[in-house]
Amino acid sequence: MSKPENVTLRCPFCDKETINAYYTPPMIQSSTSRAATGRKTILYQRGERYEILSGCSNCGKSQNEVKKALKEGKEDTEKEKRILERLKQQGIIKDEIITKL
Ligand SMILES: [Zn+2]
Repeated sequence: MSKPENVTLRCPFCDKETINAYYTPPMIQSSTSRAATGRKTILYQRGERYEILSGCSNCGKSQNEVKKALKEGKEDTEKEKRILERLKQQGIIKDEIITKL
């Protein structure tokens, strides 16, 4: 298991490295499924995660503002894609359904 580590992130507002955060590295997980062709093991990656612990001491943005900006800036679409992929791998949703979402 990977442990969160303490890191300093760049502030999305003023671009200074002032934001304290926990970083959880990506993890590889496996799941075994039974298909008509036999047993199949699927490896998939759980995305890295940042837990914002502070605001910016340089420009004065609050913890929540930083959290929101970072999330909107890079995470949203990727996260959505990963969730869809995971559901697909688990056989819960199929391709033709995804395209209709
Ligand atoms: Zn800042």
